[in-house]
Amino acid sequence: MENIQNLTDKYIAKTYNRSPVQLIRGAGSLAYDTEGKRYIDLGSGIAVNQFGIADPDWIQAVTVQLSCLQHTSNLYYSEPAARLAKILCQRTGMERVFFSNSGAEANECAIKTARRRAFLTYGDESHSTIITLRDSFHGRTVTTLSATGQDSFHTEFGPFTPGFVYAQPGDVADLHRLADSTDCCAVMLETIQGEGGVNVLDEAYVQAAWELCRQRDMLLIVDEVQTGNGRTGSLYSYTHYGITPDIVTTAKGLAGGLPMGATLLGSRCADVLTPGSHGSTFGGNPVAAAGAVNIINRIDEGLLAGVLQRETLIRDLLAGAKGVIDVTGRGLMLGIRCEKPAGEIVAQAARAGVLVLTAKDKVRLLPALNIPEHLLQEAIEILKRVIAE
Ligand SMILES: *Cc1c(COP(=O)(O)O)cnc(C)c1O
Repeated sequence: MENIQNLTDKYIAKTYNRSPVQLIRGAGSLAYDTEGKRYIDLGSGIAVNQFGIADPDWIQAVTVQLSCLQHTSNLYYSEPAARLAKILCQRTGMERVFFSNSGAEANECAIKTARRRAFLTYGDESHSTIITLRDSFHGRTVTTLSATGQDSFHTEFGPFTPGFVYAQPGDVADLHRLADSTDCCAVMLETIQGEGGVNVLDEAYVQAAWELCRQRDMLLIVDEVQTGNGRTGSLYSYTHYGITPDIVTTAKGLAGGLPMGATLLGSRCADVLTPGSHGSTFGGNPVAAAGAVNIINRIDEGLLAGVLQRETLIRDLLAGAKGVIDVTGRGLMLGIRCEKPAGEIVAQAARAGVLVLTAKDKVRLLPALNIPEHLLQEAIEILKRVIAE
């Protein structure tokens, strides 16, 4: 048998630093590698497998659709995407959905919508600027790299898309200063900055951003690619803030493990995109959409209460633990600041049978929303030992 690590290193573009782990199967929050070693998965493939690995109910929904029709293109009508759009709109109060295949694409659509709306209003590109936040992450395309408020992403691939300015998170005056000095069409933010270090924005700040957008005829875009789909204990995290965004983007966990992005459009921009102004060959793919209908329908009050209960369990187990400085985040999107380097903890935890992630200098937990509490407890005890060592 060929060595997969060698094949990967030889033939796949070298864009990732991989752990020396090759997972081949799993069930729920347990994953197994080629040697049959068992791992408790607290990463969910980066917040993607919302109901864990090989969830039987989700497999059923996906395979029924797969055996009927795998793809139609958007030249024709298709039931799964239409049903999914209705569910998403009814559960959020948004009015229309554009489907794509990733978080970056969902954000591209949001950016295009905000800019087209401003273009239609002013008749030119004078109001094309979008305010995003320092330490944000919005994707890897040239435009979403521009939107990402981290200088380290703004090099080597230029020229980058112009028209983004960066505000200091939590600083309302900075937001107003930027809006005063540039004609803007939108503010784009994550309520919890994921890749930026699991930083939770405070309520007053997010509400001030929303107020600003309404005063200045700007759109508030909330990037819920990571925070969405039940992750923080509500279907979308903006509902914790008492605001109504104009655009919500999501992807990662939406279809439970299949590639899908969605851009939810509110009343101020629901009709901005018209035939020919945007599109995607795979967007709204029936198999992915059938998976997403299954996932979203199962994110109900009971499931969400369970997410918050699991958060409490994790926080209680980590409280006062040796080597733990603090825990940030919400629901099952948590960042642990430790005395030891996060990268070391991730590697040692994997050897001890627990899969976790990093976010900047923190250890990041993104377990399945339905992880059994006994597995969660077992995993956190192992993690505590690794952190304390
Ligand atoms: C992961 C992520 C993205 C990018 O999603 P892709 O599917 O990798 O393109 C964008 N925004 C946020 C907040 C993310 O966490």
